[in-house]
Amino acid sequence: MKINLLRYTTDAELLCGAAALTSTRSGTPSEILAKIDSETAKRITKRVTGYGHISVIEHASFTFSIEGVSRVLTHQLIRHRIASYTQQSQRFVAYNTLEKYVTPPSISERMEAKKIFDETLEKISETYQKLLKLGIKKEDARFILPNAAKTNIIVTMNARELRHFFNMRCCTRSQWEIREVAIEMLKQAKKTAPALFENAGPSCVELGYCPEGKIKPPECNVEEIKKRFRSM
Ligand SMILES: Cc1cc2nc3c(=O)[nH]c(=O)nc-3n(C[C@H](O)[C@H](O)[C@H](O)COP(=O)(O)OP(=O)(O)OC[C@H]3O[C@@H](n4cnc5c(N)ncnc54)[C@H](O)[C@@H]3O)c2cc1C
Repeated sequence: MKINLLRYTTDAELLCGAAALTSTRSGTPSEILAKIDSETAKRITKRVTGYGHISVIEHASFTFSIEGVSRVLTHQLIRHRIASYTQQSQRFVAYNTLEKYVTPPSISERMEAKKIFDETLEKISETYQKLLKLGIKKEDARFILPNAAKTNIIVTMNARELRHFFNMRCCTRSQWEIREVAIEMLKQAKKTAPALFENAGPSCVELGYCPEGKIKPPECNVEEIKKRFRSM
């Protein structure tokens, strides 16, 4: 898989800081933005979001290209509703080789499982091609394609939704593929606007405890997870 932060709000921290000050200052947002310095912006944003007024970071927007992931992943991703998506269409783009599928590590690590998986995918590919040759449209032939089929998607989220997405999908309880994608998105977004993503990561990083209660995975060490994500 490949994750690329394509575009983002430039000076996102300044913009969100100016937005935060707009509620308490007499000047216009343009005047506040023209005057605000980076340190003040960061301090104000952290203070205001710390009070729970998180809407100020909705002014910063991030667009990612998510490439070579499975349909399993995109089905989970698009459950996050405060976002915009455009996905490669199986109505227009044909699938024809084994390279176009994602193999989970648990399967590729086990020879016997990998053999069954590959044989089944080869059979699916063959059937798909036969259907196309019979004149069946791609939009119908695709009914045979598996969840493993590779796809590309572009997603735009604001910083508030991204933080929520990271809470849910950087968590150990989340499925491995979307977790890998979420962690990479967090790294790239945090580089551009560290103040907006301080303490971002699975919920425990901000809360200091695991909200999953009894279903918290036994391997989770909240202190270690906090350290890892804060230093990202
Ligand atoms: C580990 C894990 C396991 C999961 N298992 C399943 C499963 O078995 N089955 C399943 O169906 N899903 C499952 N999901 C998906 C999950 O239930 C959510 O649909 C998904 O994570 C999107 O999160 P969300 O609804 O909080 O947020 P988003 O859609 O990202 O929205 C962000 C926030 O906006 C607010 N919001 C958005 N829309 C509304 C609305 N209509 N009304 C009120 N408030 C709104 C909420 O506060 C919400 O938290 C799983 C998710 C995870 C992380």
